Amino acid sequence: MSVNHQRTIYLDNNATTQVDPTVFEAMMPWLREDYGNPSSVYSLGKRAAAALDIAREQLASLLHCAPDELIFTSCGSESINSAILSAASIDPDKTHIITSAVEHSATIKLCEHLARRGYEITWLPVDELGRLDIERLESAIRADTALVTLLWANNETGVLFPIQEIARLTSARKVALHVDAVQGIGKLPLNVGELGVQFLSVSGHKLHCPKGIGALYIHKRTRFTPWLRGSQESARRGGTQNVSSIVAMGKAAEIAAALLSANPGKTKGLRDRFEQSVLKSVAGADVNGEREHRLPNTTNIAFDGIESEGALMLLDERGICCSAGSACTSGSVHPSHVLKAMGFSTHRARSSLRFSFGRFNTEEEVDIASAVVPEVIDKLRRLAPAQGPVIMAA
Ligand code: PLP
Repeated sequence: MSVNHQRTIYLDNNATTQVDPTVFEAMMPWLREDYGNPSSVYSLGKRAAAALDIAREQLASLLHCAPDELIFTSCGSESINSAILSAASIDPDKTHIITSAVEHSATIKLCEHLARRGYEITWLPVDELGRLDIERLESAIRADTALVTLLWANNETGVLFPIQEIARLTSARKVALHVDAVQGIGKLPLNVGELGVQFLSVSGHKLHCPKGIGALYIHKRTRFTPWLRGSQESARRGGTQNVSSIVAMGKAAEIAAALLSANPGKTKGLRDRFEQSVLKSVAGADVNGEREHRLPNTTNIAFDGIESEGALMLLDERGICCSAGSACTSGSVHPSHVLKAMGFSTHRARSSLRFSFGRFNTEEEVDIASAVVPEVIDKLRRLAPAQGPVIMAA
């Protein structure tokens, strides 16, 4: 049987990342020989416990916080759920939560659930560039506000919220702040200890680590009540720790920290090379969101007159992976709630593609993708020439 070994050009690093071979090597002994439970008292267990300590220190060093301010979870979504549920239940008189319309589904779905349970949620809007109005945030804070929970970097557009400014505001108003930093950590430097946040969520698989591992930063003076109860993680998160994946996350954090200082501009260089080329060669292509304050690896481009689903299929046939909107379990694509919240029409939201670069991409791959994307867009436009022009919603 012949197998198609067409080279894959993976430009979807905001969805997940390739596991770094060094990270893979680091985790292997903890699946093979050193399989002990870190809570066991004999040497096999103690070695696992020591490995957790090292990984916690490595992650703390990337985030610039104390190791005991970190708990390991199963993913970014669990970290987000843990932070929001804790803040929402710690004081029964505080039942108001502030978030934004462009959050990740982990935040949106949980806030919708809490709204059905009697909590009041303020959904802050964004402007056409994906930016938050800080004055609007300030005026939304009330005496009964339990938590402000906001993204640092948007997964679809890469647009950054000014979390330093937001943290100054919430500190001054004595309101707890949770930052979903899943997309930002490892791509941009951040001093979490100095930031003044109460909670911050991280996910391993965006950091060249396997899926199924995350972490939550909890400021040392923040009251926290776990929803997954048990004795592990100083009784802040039950469940025997996933030692091999935690070791992997520590190693991934160590590598990310080193690269942030040694080669901070690599993915930005690749992203800019691709973006400039595509904008030049495809008429009617336009970047969604603010271009200055955004992740260095992400570009979200609207291609006038195409359906992103068709583009994804044709690009896949040419070996290129990118994404559009948020894929649901059936694999179909919904118009992005982020682009809709920015005021774009359903048509524009449905004609947009996200390309997100990673450290394993090369200039050669970028050049191939820069040539293939215009061909695919051209083909789709010729197939559907009757499409109207891109218009902004009122
Ligand atoms: N927050 C953001 C901004 C994300 O992009 C993601 C994953 O795509 C998550 C949270 C959830 O992380 P995980 O997949 O580890 O649950």
